[in-house]
Amino acid sequence: MPLHQSDAIILKTYPLGEADRIVAFFTRDRGKVRGVANGARKMKNRFGASLEPLAHSRIQYFEKENRDLVRIQSAELLDSPMKLFGDYDRAVCAGHMIELVDRFLPEHEPQDTVFRLVRMTTRALEQGCPIDFASCYFEVWMLRLAGVFPNLFVCSVCSRTLQSEDERFLAPGLQAVICGDCDHRAGVGVLPGVVALVLRVLKRPLEGESESDFEAKTLSDLQQLNRYWIRHYSER
Ligand SMILES: [Zn+2]
Repeated sequence: MPLHQSDAIILKTYPLGEADRIVAFFTRDRGKVRGVANGARKMKNRFGASLEPLAHSRIQYFEKENRDLVRIQSAELLDSPMKLFGDYDRAVCAGHMIELVDRFLPEHEPQDTVFRLVRMTTRALEQGCPIDFASCYFEVWMLRLAGVFPNLFVCSVCSRTLQSEDERFLAPGLQAVICGDCDHRAGVGVLPGVVALVLRVLKRPLEGESESDFEAKTLSDLQQLNRYWIRHYSER
């Protein structure tokens, strides 16, 4: 039984019997893993806050052959997300982020970009980044990395590269973009504000408090599209 050590983000935990917990955690080097933490439900246990959702922890675990669940030997808390869970809206946003990572990531597949995305979004939320912006940012990247966010900058008909100010339409099914010069009668227009917002998300990292120059309407338009793609992905 080899012992592994990985830096991980805790996703979810479930009670197992009287004393133990099943923990789903997202390791930097081996992707999503599920394991048992013996004794983690006891009042005084050796894991402390290191197995709370969104905690960044260094986990040592044993992998057993032909078993889905690993055995968690120890967990050392590197960074606690407790600040996020003191505020209702931030806690909901954090929960949404955990849900998406858990739903979109296959087991045992390292995804360093997603790992860094979760850490960056957590930090930005702690530093007071507006919640709707952080949520949109996280969703766009997550959907893009999962291969379901349409490329808004290339026409799917004529393959022309589109500038941010160019007119564009979403084809039925919302998965491809059509430029203003191609036949777009069946498409729906994408508002320029949404294009600018997506461009901002893709071009620069998420920062703290300074991120509020987008209107609530633009953010909610993009969130509606994200929600559609999240549903679409989950149902396929
Ligand atoms: Zn075109």
